[in-house]
Amino acid sequence: MDFTYPPEVEAFRAELAAWLEANLPDDLRGEGLGSSMEIEPERLERLRAWNRALADAGYAAIAWPVAYGGRGAGILEQVVYAEEMHRARAPGTLNPLGISNIAPAIMAYGTEEQKLRFLPRMRRGDDIWCQGFSEPDAGSDLASLQTRAEPVGDHFVVNGQKTWNTLGHLANWCELLVRTDPEAPRHRGISCLLVDMTLPGIEVRPLRTITGEREFNEIFFTDVRVPADALLGPLHDGWRVAMTTLTYERGTVANLHLGLRDKIRRLLVEATRRGAADSPSVRLRLAEVYLQGEVLKLLADRAVSGELAGRPMGPESSIAKLVWSDAEQLLGEVAGDVLGPEANTGSWGRERVYMRALSIAGGTTQIQKSIIAQRILGLPRPT
Ligand SMILES: Cc1cc2nc3c(=O)[nH]c(=O)nc-3n(C[C@H](O)[C@H](O)[C@H](O)COP(=O)(O)OP(=O)(O)OC[C@H]3O[C@@H](n4cnc5c(N)ncnc54)[C@H](O)[C@@H]3O)c2cc1C
Repeated sequence: MDFTYPPEVEAFRAELAAWLEANLPDDLRGEGLGSSMEIEPERLERLRAWNRALADAGYAAIAWPVAYGGRGAGILEQVVYAEEMHRARAPGTLNPLGISNIAPAIMAYGTEEQKLRFLPRMRRGDDIWCQGFSEPDAGSDLASLQTRAEPVGDHFVVNGQKTWNTLGHLANWCELLVRTDPEAPRHRGISCLLVDMTLPGIEVRPLRTITGEREFNEIFFTDVRVPADALLGPLHDGWRVAMTTLTYERGTVANLHLGLRDKIRRLLVEATRRGAADSPSVRLRLAEVYLQGEVLKLLADRAVSGELAGRPMGPESSIAKLVWSDAEQLLGEVAGDVLGPEANTGSWGRERVYMRALSIAGGTTQIQKSIIAQRILGLPRPT
């Protein structure tokens, strides 16, 4: 399925491509925050300057409504944006989580003061945001979270621990889910706070992952006094606030195939160059992973056409997430077949271990399968 984009979308593509050509410094191509725990302050500031340039040109948060500094971009513009940024190897913003996950919650539930205070600085990368949702005993079952916030006078006093906090080491703000009413049913006693990470009593401890990098963190809260105006949305109704993610970023699923298909193409070239493609078993595996990449592209096209026809993507996004993480992990295995021991070094070496995280982050494989079983196939919940 190939879309003929309307002229205004092609005009947007041309305008963005020309702007990137004129403004993206060569030494930033292919750069990004990545696993940036050990990022040097100088590189962080160069990425921040790039973020500001994107923001000033109207390219930092295109899906946001115009009222909040976005372009109100529809799905086609979002897809084209991702394609052009990918083609130019342009770094994104410093707030991947903030722009797609946290901002929609602030727009939907924030006071005017919160919107004015946080959104412009988030868009320009002046502040960096992290999400404090998961805990050691609350991941897939997020509603069992235990971090406690007790209202005391004009403050909340927060105690507890969060974990797996991407960007927590760089963030100066955190969207934090806390339990404010321990007596209420699990989903009801939760609130959402916008927490200044420099407050006394907050300790961020880095976690080293299987890649040897330090990409995320544990965050400990000990008697942290958070001002009452940090509350986002109604008290005890933070569950609804937290679920307001991806409202303006429907393009995300439609873009998953971009990086994957690039890597598959790179591996096919290597397989041919090294003669590995002469082996029937390797050919079979290469064909299998190639097809998964194409299936993902078709799912993306289906998502786009559904959106255009007024059928917003629902639980189908779980199919795309599942196919994507399976394909990435299969690609890692096939790279081993093609490259032999070399697959354990350099960029393939890193990718091959990093891919393990993809079936956990953003909802595990088992959870995606449950969603597909119940909400798409109509199967009953397990008893
Ligand atoms: C790269 C990465 C970045 C992350 N960034 C953040 C972040 O910024 N902020 C944040 O708050 N969290 C973050 N997370 C955490 C992520 O959301 C959780 O890891 C995820 O929700 C799974 O929770 P868990 O690790 O506690 O595993 P658990 O929920 O304990 O699951 C353990 C195993 O049990 C299975 N399982 C659990 N429940 C069921 C069920 N009902 N049915 C069938 N199987 C089940 C799971 O599939 C899994 O295999 C990140 C994770 C990763 C990998």
